[in-house]
Amino acid sequence: MNDCIDKRLEKLINELQDEVLDRIARRILEQGGEARLSRDWVRRCGDDFNLTPVELALRCLPVAACYALTPVSHFNVGAVAIGQSGTFYFGANQEFSGDAIQQTVHAEQSAVGHAWLAGEPALTDMVVNYTPCGHCRQFMNELNSAERLQIHLPHSRNNSLRSYLPDAFGPKDLNISRVLFDPQPNSFGFTHADPLVQAAADAAGQAYAPYSQALSGVALQVGERIITGRYAENAAFNPSFLPLQCALNYRRLSGLSDLPVSRIIMAERQGGLSHRSITEQLANRYLGLEIEYFAL
Ligand SMILES: [Zn+2]
Repeated sequence: MNDCIDKRLEKLINELQDEVLDRIARRILEQGGEARLSRDWVRRCGDDFNLTPVELALRCLPVAACYALTPVSHFNVGAVAIGQSGTFYFGANQEFSGDAIQQTVHAEQSAVGHAWLAGEPALTDMVVNYTPCGHCRQFMNELNSAERLQIHLPHSRNNSLRSYLPDAFGPKDLNISRVLFDPQPNSFGFTHADPLVQAAADAAGQAYAPYSQALSGVALQVGERIITGRYAENAAFNPSFLPLQCALNYRRLSGLSDLPVSRIIMAERQGGLSHRSITEQLANRYLGLEIEYFAL
């Protein structure tokens, strides 16, 4: 588990002396830093403290914010995406110093990406400690649950995404019916003997790129584990979420950011655009690695 996150969680427990926060932070520490809470745990903890799931998620925000990586802004945002399954998926903003601002991950994107990779079929609520910025409102508008997604803030609960994004422009305006979080049955007929390469190609097959068709995925060798990431495109293009960020985010929220990444594979369908160079740039600067690239 990442030293820095570990220390932040312990500091939070010691400084805030709050019974609910203490229970949440200790649970995350017990899980080796895996920043998600099962429906059963949420239910038990909610019963013990007489809190609804949304009230409990609001109490989780300082814990989620411990996962922020903010060398530029020093402004830590925490988010919790609540899945249809009842699972809580934490998220936090991430910045990569010395690299372009476009490489940045917002907390809501982080929570959404975490839930997406974990296989959640849809999100019901987004809970966040600051009002979602315009970029995140547009990003969440791509979700299969955008019409019913509820946003909750410490000072304001039960807001529909629609109320935050009136007269929205989204996938339906571009005649896309299978949207983000819907199954994406893309197949490339690509097979490779190296499991890491195959994992990247499989991740590309589950990516979402209905506008450019440039489906892409990455696979990271993290110690003994393989962590993948997929591209999630947006109707407004710029709020799209890139595959390496998706994987690094998942690694961080799985409590594995202390484990070195030894290889990075990127697999990408040749479409109207490419994320090869921006991915190479982040891999180089942040991890000191060259990516191994496969065209699909
Ligand atoms: Zn944002």
